[in-house]
Amino acid sequence: MAIQYIDSVDLTEKNVVARFDFNVPLDKNDSSKITDTTRIDNALETIRTILDNGAQKLVLISHLGRPKGKVNKKFSLEPVATYLAEKLGEDVVLSESCLDRGIKTLLTLNESRVILLENVRFHAEETKNDRDFARKLSEYGDVYVNDAFGTAHRKHSSTFEINAFFKRNAYAGSLIRKELEALDQIVEKPKSPFVAILGGAKVSDKIKVIESLLPTVSHLLIGGAMAYPFLKAKGYEVGTSLCSDEDVALATKILKEKTAHKIELPHDHIASKEFGGEPIEVSQMNMSEDVMGLDIGPKTVQIFSEKLRGAKTVLWNGPMGMFENDNYNKGTFGVAQTLAEMENAFTLVGGGDSVSAVNQAGLADKMSHVSTGGGASLEYIEKSTLPGIHALRFGIE
Ligand code: AMP
Repeated sequence: MAIQYIDSVDLTEKNVVARFDFNVPLDKNDSSKITDTTRIDNALETIRTILDNGAQKLVLISHLGRPKGKVNKKFSLEPVATYLAEKLGEDVVLSESCLDRGIKTLLTLNESRVILLENVRFHAEETKNDRDFARKLSEYGDVYVNDAFGTAHRKHSSTFEINAFFKRNAYAGSLIRKELEALDQIVEKPKSPFVAILGGAKVSDKIKVIESLLPTVSHLLIGGAMAYPFLKAKGYEVGTSLCSDEDVALATKILKEKTAHKIELPHDHIASKEFGGEPIEVSQMNMSEDVMGLDIGPKTVQIFSEKLRGAKTVLWNGPMGMFENDNYNKGTFGVAQTLAEMENAFTLVGGGDSVSAVNQAGLADKMSHVSTGGGASLEYIEKSTLPGIHALRFGIE
């Protein structure tokens, strides 16, 4: 069944309950300050569409941080309400909780079209996908809209179970549309040659995606801390680099696959005697026992760039090193630069850290698509669907 989008739905006299991902980073010293508003900015198009299509009331749902089912003012959506009101140029009322009795009264009053429910994860029921909690949330609207791509891989009350109460009145927003259109260029017959670049810290998080990518890619370039378990599994010395036994076992298993020859590992490294200490160039695959790898070296950047040359589709998830430190960002920025110059390729960057890396490098607008959901985009590539998307498409009983 095709997914229904909210764009041209007449919402006159309808109350809409909509799930967004307003999980923005807050200033560590002042939790009333948002340090990056991108996630809210990404939601504005759908919010405006809903209001322009005549909605009587719009009830917004989101989580922020991990309050673990308890009220914690540090994770209040208050700064989000303030920012939204400023951007929309109208009142945004923040409810005391998602189950605040005043919400239903607000829905009958003429003033304030937009109501933001306080952090949905203040309720333990949300992450348990509790049916009764979903039903209570559903009572705020005649129509449900989900545009929270970043949480579409979660089976929670406000992203999954709530669909049971809307049947064909459940729609996706424009962010989900953009994400799915981009991801489908990777999932459904990617234009060949297709090259994937994976980095970051943990193999176990990405093992399933490696297995699903290997048959379709021409090359799989692995950098970042993820590379060391693979190097170790091949018998190279990785010194004190991040490298758990569990990850080495996973890497060993992957390297036994028929398609494992497509995996390209670092040929040199930027290492250090301590985490974030003075950089040392290691111009070979083996590292001495007293150093840890913190970035791929210049030879590797060049080899990875050669493997990328001529690619028509590129997927990148995870940095090539500890890019937050200037001494160890050249590998990540080098890969970002190569992608930025590939004008004839479809380049998709996903994963929180690689997204901040392309932003820091000032190259985000040179990518074909920068995904707003790291975990969600990887899971979509692995499974070709996500619980939140499946529920919108087929509904749930
Ligand atoms: P992930 O969430 O798995 O994408 O991992 C991202 C994190 O991995 C970033 O904070 C990087 O600093 C870190 N990282 C990448 N490469 C290395 C490395 N060689 N050693 C330590 N940390 C790394």
